[in-house]
Amino acid sequence: MTDRDTRHKKAMQKRKEIVDAKVAQADEERGIVIVITGNGKGKTTSAWGTVARSLGYGYKVHVTQFIKGGWDCGERDVFANDDNLSISTMGTGFTWETQNRQLDTEACQKVWQETIPKLQNPDIHLVVLDEVTYMLKYGYMEIDELMDALVNRPENQSVILTGRAAQKQLQEYADTVSEVQDVKHAFNNGIKARKGIDW
Ligand code: ATP
Ligand code: MG
Repeated sequence: MTDRDTRHKKAMQKRKEIVDAKVAQADEERGIVIVITGNGKGKTTSAWGTVARSLGYGYKVHVTQFIKGGWDCGERDVFANDDNLSISTMGTGFTWETQNRQLDTEACQKVWQETIPKLQNPDIHLVVLDEVTYMLKYGYMEIDELMDALVNRPENQSVILTGRAAQKQLQEYADTVSEVQDVKHAFNNGIKARKGIDW
């Protein structure tokens, strides 16, 4: 073995000890709340990646798409025939397109009311609330109602919340919070959003 190989082996042994100790410490089994926030690209795609994981094991999943109703999105159609996936989609497009607070509030409330029973159903392994932070920001739904539903959800259910500027209350309650940083984005360099990549 070369010096480098020996050093690598030593470092990996140390790493294994650390990881093993952490694994031994994590002995709680329950569903978790994940917040994916930040200005960079990758929040919704991360949520759908986890949907694929859950469906892959035959778990039931519910996705509520706030905002994106007016859009096509490829990932939704991949799983369209999977009976384990249910989806609620807001009927309107982006808020800056509708420019009608009353209509947006009604559309948001409609999907939120559809979502509440999902957050009470112990058969559903994962619930995704995509772009929910904007609904809270614009006051289309109440954060207290969302917190209440999260706190009282079935023990084994996990929830993913996405959207920029996730509210402090959500971040504090969540078990996992990831912030996707906007290092650069093609769009800001004049490159059009691409089918199969951006939607
Ligand atoms: P994705 O759906 O690709 O994971 P996202 O959920 O992180 O993106 P959103 O804020 O929901 O990001 O925006 C959705 C759309 O805006 C996508 O087409 C995405 O490529 C684009 N987008 C995301 N981040 C940026 C950015 N920093 N600048 C410009 N466009 C962005
Ligand atoms: Mg998104």
